[in-house]
Amino acid sequence: MKSETMDINFDNKQRFQRIKDAKTKRFDLIIIGGGITGAGIALDAALRGLSTLLVEKTDFAAGTSSKSTKLIHGGLRYLKQLEFGLVKETGLERAVAHQNIPHLVHPEKMLLPIVKKGTFNKFSAVLAISFYDLLAKVPADDRRQSFNKRKTLNLEPLLNPSILKSSIQYSEYRTDDARLTIEIIKASRREGADAFNYMEVQDFIYTENQVSGVKCIDRTTGEHYVFRGNQVVSAAGPWVDKLRVLDKSKKGKSLQLTKGVHIVLPKEKLPLNSSVYFDAFDGRMLFAIPRGKVTYVGTSDTNYEGNLDKIVCTTKDANYILDAVNHMFEVNNLTISDITSTWAGLRPLIHEDGKSPSELSRKDEIFISNTKLISIAGGKLTGYRKMAERIVDLVIKNNRTLPKVKCMTKNYKIHADSLVDYNAYQEYTKTLLSEDHKLTMTPYRAWYLATNYGKNATKIIKMANSKSTVRPEALLAAEIEYCLRYESCYEPDDFFNRRSGRLYFDIESIYQNIDFIVKEFSNHFEWNPETEEKMKAKSIKFIKEVSQIED
Ligand code: FAD
Repeated sequence: MKSETMDINFDNKQRFQRIKDAKTKRFDLIIIGGGITGAGIALDAALRGLSTLLVEKTDFAAGTSSKSTKLIHGGLRYLKQLEFGLVKETGLERAVAHQNIPHLVHPEKMLLPIVKKGTFNKFSAVLAISFYDLLAKVPADDRRQSFNKRKTLNLEPLLNPSILKSSIQYSEYRTDDARLTIEIIKASRREGADAFNYMEVQDFIYTENQVSGVKCIDRTTGEHYVFRGNQVVSAAGPWVDKLRVLDKSKKGKSLQLTKGVHIVLPKEKLPLNSSVYFDAFDGRMLFAIPRGKVTYVGTSDTNYEGNLDKIVCTTKDANYILDAVNHMFEVNNLTISDITSTWAGLRPLIHEDGKSPSELSRKDEIFISNTKLISIAGGKLTGYRKMAERIVDLVIKNNRTLPKVKCMTKNYKIHADSLVDYNAYQEYTKTLLSEDHKLTMTPYRAWYLATNYGKNATKIIKMANSKSTVRPEALLAAEIEYCLRYESCYEPDDFFNRRSGRLYFDIESIYQNIDFIVKEFSNHFEWNPETEEKMKAKSIKFIKEVSQIED
């Protein structure tokens, strides 16, 4: 394993040379889709010595993998659907994910209020959570705790006392899905894989009726390329069926896409002490999760048949969540005008006759076509590592020339630094304040840098210290430069949406700096004024899409 180097060049300015190299190779494995599933497969395969290429049509994690609730969890509610296997697998994966990338997957206490006419009563909640803790082998000192009404209100004074009866607190983990995806892709490259964003598969190539490669268009230039591989895996999430149709192999089970939205409220509008898992009016349950300057709440679950590339939060979606918030918490009747940002994503679930969106299984499904194309869809962010293991096992089994190496990701440190748990990162956050020689670092910015970039925050601060730009732009410029050089950003949206999460969690910083951000990109890629203008307009369109809710 070559995991000692933390960062290797991943700058789209040099992508042409990498494309030239990739064109000449015949890969053991080509992966379509740079969401968490594709990323996990790339890392697993590279660690087992397979020559691996991943291609993503827009940006890494631009599909569902930046639109989740951002929890690494077993999914308490799936117990109701008797999905014990899924809950056990994902429940156990929580601790593995924390161990392997602690700054991005960290413990989060979840409060489940027991309310009048709620989904759970005290008995069913205790039973479910005890079983949940047992399945996930949660250590005794971290298991559920029950609180009476008074203690619950001490913990979370915002809960509506007129419906509250008691509560249970249990352990979950929180993450940032898009950053988790990019870190896994970076790790896969450290281990020898290559990956391109803005590289869309438009067709397959075949040798004796078997898929033997992909025809792509490079969205950054319009150039067409062919990449060859002994095995092609489609991890295209909601687009999996489109690729099965392209391969003329779609038969049997198919996907059912359901939409889930989240709304973001300023912290002062919903100042929660901890994450809360609570009832909506239709018997579903929502999460309200405080994160830095905001609290985000979601999610809905409705059938979706619209444009897969443009999924937005409507007034109906937002009001569904707001109604639940206004009922559960003693807040000042929150309305759409209080929402600062939103995101909406699609669950690629497997269709089952007669079931509503919330009843559909969250298990993953593997399709193998007679053209040898392997497709995987469904599943959870949390279960990405085990899904990858199953796929790479299958790829190795199907190709006798590949080494019979077992999965190595269980104890693999995705972020190769010396800090072992979240507490160590919290200590590290404090040191960032003193490492900053030139800028006015705020405690928020130190926390943000450490929890987004891990120990690479130090690298970003060093880059900022060496810049001649006046403060505080130097720090932002350094962060952008880091993401351009080491995280394959191509458009400003890649940075402010998926690398930094600022679009959701600190949108004010985008409003204030959009010209500066676009200019930094323009200088890096040497855009002409026309391209710069086009990128700026595109960025503003993205910002409006998430912050202005329309029907
Ligand atoms: P995606 O992330 O959609 O990746 C597929 C990629 O394939 C896309 O980036 C797409 O651009 C690319 N692609 C498609 N076609 C092509 C092509 N022709 N060429 C190249 N690339 C292509 N799970 C959890 O564990 N915890 C949660 O808290 C959680 N919350 C959720 C909340 C919501 C609202 C939703 C919708 C899901 C949630 N999930 C959660 C589930 C989880 O987010 C998904 O299971 C996971 O992100 C799916 O990842 P994926 O890589 O399979 O798909």
